[in-house]
Amino acid sequence: MNQPSPADTRLRRSDFEKACVYCGARLRVEVARKSRHDAMHDYACAECGKTYEMQAALPPVVFLVTPRNDGKTDRYQETMF
Ligand SMILES: [Zn+2]
Repeated sequence: MNQPSPADTRLRRSDFEKACVYCGARLRVEVARKSRHDAMHDYACAECGKTYEMQAALPPVVFLVTPRNDGKTDRYQETMF
């Protein structure tokens, strides 16, 4: 017996909601996970563009649940050098 079990190859949904720490927008993040095949992926806030990182099998898909509540319209400034 050397067959991989279906659980090892099937994508699992692992969706969650979070509030953006920069602008307060509520985001729903749809995530596909596959244990042992996850990698680091970026996803961005739908309102301000702030990026987050997480472990997932595929790039996460972001939906806006409630708009930003900080009263501003600026974009998050990444400080990467
Ligand atoms: Zn944001």
